[in-house]
Amino acid sequence: MSATSAIDEAYAALAGVAGLTVAQHVSLRSYNRFGLGGPADLLASTKQADVLAEALSISRRLDLPFYFLGDGSNVIVSDAGYRGLVLRYEADAVELRDGAVYAEVGAPLQALVDFSIAQSLAGIHTLERIPGSVGGAVYGNAGAYGRSLHESVARVRFLDGETVREFNNPGCEFEYRESVFKRRKDWIVLSCALELETGDHAALAKESANIRAIRDEKFPPTMRCAGSIFKNLYFERLPAAAQELVPPAAVRGGKVASAFFLEQVGAKGMRQGGIEIAPYHANVIYNAGGGTAADLRSLIAALKRRVSEQFGFEVEEEVQYVGDA
Ligand SMILES: Cc1cc2nc3c(=O)[nH]c(=O)nc-3n(C[C@H](O)[C@H](O)[C@H](O)COP(=O)(O)OP(=O)(O)OC[C@H]3O[C@@H](n4cnc5c(N)ncnc54)[C@H](O)[C@@H]3O)c2cc1C
Repeated sequence: MSATSAIDEAYAALAGVAGLTVAQHVSLRSYNRFGLGGPADLLASTKQADVLAEALSISRRLDLPFYFLGDGSNVIVSDAGYRGLVLRYEADAVELRDGAVYAEVGAPLQALVDFSIAQSLAGIHTLERIPGSVGGAVYGNAGAYGRSLHESVARVRFLDGETVREFNNPGCEFEYRESVFKRRKDWIVLSCALELETGDHAALAKESANIRAIRDEKFPPTMRCAGSIFKNLYFERLPAAAQELVPPAAVRGGKVASAFFLEQVGAKGMRQGGIEIAPYHANVIYNAGGGTAADLRSLIAALKRRVSEQFGFEVEEEVQYVGDA
């Protein structure tokens, strides 16, 4: 069967699923914060977990690759787009359930942060203004200002392709910007339950407002970027020669900002086509207009090469790639 008729067949099968919205040849530009990349052969979304499971079963039966996309705030979509099915899950309830804060993954992380503050619950208030969905935050164990989501997660429900399962916190294998879900791309997180401590409403609101002001300056809301491109680095894992260059004050929570090294290889202000590195922060890369995924990948590759040549270790992307280069 030709590629086109295989996609037509998949479209017909998916279009027959009640509760699933499906479209062919959809530009992914408006589905990622960089605002770049090509089309997906198929894009489907639903608010129902059983419908999502059925879409997955069709993709398996037809041997159609799938990619699960949240709000696209941490992805680089290939200029060629995605050959296969891009899936989205839009269930977005956030509520108190049995003493825990329960959230479905289609909710914006900010809605979860706002809800916790409104309930005078402390623990995720420092995640103020991190863009993206709750699902993306679980997947990448999002965090900022000294706290990460995993410190508050009690349970996560997910679809393992066929059935719905639940992990407790240790089962999620959370680490800095890591979780078991990052290693199992065939699993889709559906919801999570957080256990938060009671806090003082005014103090939580004040702290989050301060964080918002700082973040809005670093990442203006219209900036087409993914936040930090590279993960920060565990000091202990750096080669001895690189460790010697790091002043003690630059080590926080055992980690060194990758910007510390990127700055020394001249990253600030570098550009490639329409993609630029912020003049004020060596780990913030954005689409200044007309940038392509090829430009972005080439700039990232140049930075990795420079750091490797000068310091003898690799910086690792936090951002995720969608589709082939
Ligand atoms: C301006 C800006 C600032 C940022 N600051 C921070 C920060 O301070 N701290 C931080 O941690 N991050 C930060 N980020 C990165 C980003 O906000 C987070 O990674 C966010 O959690 C991604 O969520 P998303 O829904 O946009 O995921 P997407 O970008 O859509 O997807 C990212 C990855 O998660 C996977 N994924 C998403 N949802 C699910 C799901 N339900 N099940 C399985 N896999 C899933 C996708 O397949 C993809 O591989 C920032 C980004 C921007 C643009």
